[in-house]
Amino acid sequence: MPDGQFQSESGQDARTRIKPSNYTILVPLKNDRKLAYNTVSQAFAVWDKADGQLWDDLDKAGDLPFGAAYRTFVQGGFVVNAAEDEFRTVRRNYDRARHNDGHMMMTIAPTLSCNFGCHYCFQGLDKPLTKMTPKVREATKDYLLQHLRGRRSFHLTWYGGEPLMDQEAIWDISAAAIKYCDDNGIKYTSMMISNGYKMSVPVAEKLKKARVGKVQITIDGDEEMHDSRRHLTSGRGTFQRILDNIKAVTERGLLKVSIRVNIDGQNEDQARALLDILERNKLGIRNGVSVYFAPVESVAEAADGCTSCLPKTDYADLENRLHLLAFEKGLIGMPKVPRHLGLCTAVKPNSYVVVPNGDLHKCWDTVMDPKLRVGSVFGGTRKSDGRTEAMWNAWSPFENEVCSNCQLVPACAGACAFKFVHNDYASGETGKLPCPSLKFNMAEQLFLRAKTRGFVSDDDWDQKNSPTVKGDGMLTGNRHTLASVGAVHDALQDMPS
Ligand code: SF4
Ligand code: SF4
Repeated sequence: MPDGQFQSESGQDARTRIKPSNYTILVPLKNDRKLAYNTVSQAFAVWDKADGQLWDDLDKAGDLPFGAAYRTFVQGGFVVNAAEDEFRTVRRNYDRARHNDGHMMMTIAPTLSCNFGCHYCFQGLDKPLTKMTPKVREATKDYLLQHLRGRRSFHLTWYGGEPLMDQEAIWDISAAAIKYCDDNGIKYTSMMISNGYKMSVPVAEKLKKARVGKVQITIDGDEEMHDSRRHLTSGRGTFQRILDNIKAVTERGLLKVSIRVNIDGQNEDQARALLDILERNKLGIRNGVSVYFAPVESVAEAADGCTSCLPKTDYADLENRLHLLAFEKGLIGMPKVPRHLGLCTAVKPNSYVVVPNGDLHKCWDTVMDPKLRVGSVFGGTRKSDGRTEAMWNAWSPFENEVCSNCQLVPACAGACAFKFVHNDYASGETGKLPCPSLKFNMAEQLFLRAKTRGFVSDDDWDQKNSPTVKGDGMLTGNRHTLASVGAVHDALQDMPS
């Protein structure tokens, strides 16, 4: 009897029926080949003409009895049982991850002060100088230990300002949390967002002891470009010192470093030059140094506007070029499609950001505005706290039509809840719109992945049909517009108290 077939007692043919998965994305290539990727199973394949024909037959029919020819399609999740409600499954998987109480994430900003005066910083130049007082530190530790009870894993991110401006708080709070986790069998992991200037070898040794596995450091191009954007508050350059620090700490295997390169319409050449410099300095994934690119977006009101921010499609194009170069230089592995990109502290009910005065926030981008807090490590709550938190909790990518119908939702999960919940705080089109670069360069990312594995070559790319963004629409479907995110934002604001 063929695969999946059995005879029911009534004698009727009861073969399982299959249908194409809504989450299969196909990139047409030359010579009737296709790249196939499924955002639920994360399976990836290159199909030839015969595979494409099988897919077309199924697509045309809507559903068909399962047969051996479709076995690899089923294994890859490219087709699914016709009776399956895929949307429900995808939503259930997301809700399970979001409400997984066994895992807690916290971000702690021990200080909002910073030794840099970056021109696009969301904090502006007028940064507060406060650090956590001993009283706040104690209350933060108490809060953590109380909320770690019963968890299986815990991830702590150090954030700022520049977190290394208040190192005592890091050593003190880490030690308490690590001890509690070790004593109670809770898996502890940690990372830090730092400007890298103070990350000397002795500091990195202490960070290692504090189990900080990775530090994310921003470098915005070659020395001249970086120093013009990311200088000390005194105006002095920071590039060489950061590079020296990265070399010294990774040579000693103390930390992994992820270099974030902020990209706008003015620094492609300098970003390329930075990749050359990193390569010349023998830095790369083999010794724990990787790069990733992010668009400069004007988010908070304090930022210095953004006259050079790139439109999303232009950024996605540029990102493709930079990914390829970074891959060739050993600075990124295979470009990976994420899982639940938007699952951050903002949307996980048990996860928070702690700021220097002990206020609790949900999101990294609200820390400068005390009105947007949702509580305090000291316990007292204001009426507005509950209301603000309720908005974060009510938001879900599955509550708006655009994300719900997006083939990327298993990967993207709405990308960034801030852009919906506090859309009024974001400024400019790029800052307000949530769809990440993947929405605009999925085909190119998949192609690069296939190319790096040797499955395709540049000759397979069909410039008319392969790109994600074509004249008649996008391979990945509709994206959010100012009107669609604005409607979600307004509905959240109008929620009854
Ligand atoms: S909501 Fe957006 S900005 Fe806020 S922490 Fe999450 S990803 Fe970051
Ligand atoms: S519509 Fe945009 S934000 Fe929503 S899931 Fe798709 S790519 Fe992400």
